[in-house]
Amino acid sequence: MTPSPTPDERQSTRRVVLPSGKTIEVVYFTDEAPISGSGSPVPATTPAEDIHICPDCRSELVYPVAWSEAGERAWELELRCPNCEWEHTGVYEQTIVEALDEVLDDGTQALVGDLKSLVRANMEAEVDRFIAALDADALWPIDF
Ligand SMILES: [Zn+2]
Repeated sequence: MTPSPTPDERQSTRRVVLPSGKTIEVVYFTDEAPISGSGSPVPATTPAEDIHICPDCRSELVYPVAWSEAGERAWELELRCPNCEWEHTGVYEQTIVEALDEVLDDGTQALVGDLKSLVRANMEAEVDRFIAALDADALWPIDF
């Protein structure tokens, strides 16, 4: 009696390029053998994976209003487009949600960057006013 090979858990990785240009490596555990070299190197991504893009108005500002776990690697998201008020609730797999998270993260960083420039601009304006006030002898110790 020959022992049949046990179908041990195989691991395959897939590189996912996010809209931000970052590349993340997603590890899959599967019973099937990983597709070897001859196939297409990058699996085709469906447009549906870009869930930050509104299907109605193409705005890229779609964001999750609420989310909850829907299985081991899936999330139920309630999405909203602030541009046209499109709303949708659907279940998305982990990688798609991670991609959305990256997009949201980039958006946050862009906002923080804008805020910093704004604060700097405001401070420059304040310093200019301060210098102008000093030049005009309009500042007295009592002002401090
Ligand atoms: Zn929209």
